[in-house]
Amino acid sequence: MVHSKYLAGLTQQQRDALIKSLYEQQNHKCFICEDMDLSLHNVEIDHAVPLNLGGKDEPNNFALVHKICNSEKQDSNLVVARCIKRFDKIKDEVYKNTKKSPDLSHILNKFGGSRFELPVKKILKFSRRLIIYDLIFFMKDNVEGAN
Ligand SMILES: [Zn+2]
Repeated sequence: MVHSKYLAGLTQQQRDALIKSLYEQQNHKCFICEDMDLSLHNVEIDHAVPLNLGGKDEPNNFALVHKICNSEKQDSNLVVARCIKRFDKIKDEVYKNTKKSPDLSHILNKFGGSRFELPVKKILKFSRRLIIYDLIFFMKDNVEGAN
């Protein structure tokens, strides 16, 4: 159970309204795994950015997630957890098709690489120095925004 003074202060009705509003904002998808069937599973509300990392205890920092995704997440920051999940999906898909690990081209491809006009050579050079989290953030900020 997430520690939140804000949530603790809500009536059941207010809490249900918050869940409904997050459900709509997130297009019925879990914030972490981004699967469609959020309503079919146990869900919970969590801070997208944890309070101990500077997240605020207020509605715009809440995310609706599958209870199981929240318990299995690989980072307490849900934004990071979601990026790791995205990368895992790419990794699984590439491995299934090629028996190899993904490289940057797979990631760019997945996010519409050919349609976006960043200097790819520069990125590739740059990416050698990146650890995977940096790469994921880079992908999120630069590639997703281009779609
Ligand atoms: Zn999920």
